[in-house]
Amino acid sequence: MSCIFCKIVAGEISNYTVYEDANMLAFLDVHPCSKGHTVIVPKKHVENLSAMDGELWNTTLAGVQQALKKVYTALKPDGVNIGINDGEAAGQTVPHVHWHIIPRYKGDAGGSVHSIIRSKESFDVSAVAKMFS
Ligand code: 5GP
Ligand code: ZN
Repeated sequence: MSCIFCKIVAGEISNYTVYEDANMLAFLDVHPCSKGHTVIVPKKHVENLSAMDGELWNTTLAGVQQALKKVYTALKPDGVNIGINDGEAAGQTVPHVHWHIIPRYKGDAGGSVHSIIRSKESFDVSAVAKMFS
């Protein structure tokens, strides 16, 4: 098994657990973006969002909700950003699907989800909308 998150799930690499249930494990990120930065993973190895079936989506999101409650209770942040880097182009470095829960604190000088990318190209939103039909 070469996947680092599978090794964490198997207990081969130690972690600071925030939340655990039968399907999910949430633990503190080793390189935190903020105090309490938590990563939550399905225990089953799935590489990316496209590989998740409906049942896994449901159990995963239920786990994210529980982990979020733990973060709010323990650290009382003023807010959180929750995100997932899905695919290399989006910044995914560990190919085992995972959510980031990044606690936010007033005055922390961080940005919002909108600061991930601000494309220099301009898009005609109505033209993009047609691509969905
Ligand atoms: P990604 O860039 O794939 O969305 O996020 C991977 C995250 O996993 C990074 O924030 C990184 O700091 C974290 N990470 C990588 N290896 C380990 C590890 O061995 N232990 C813990 N706790 N976090 C890890
Ligand atoms: Zn894995």
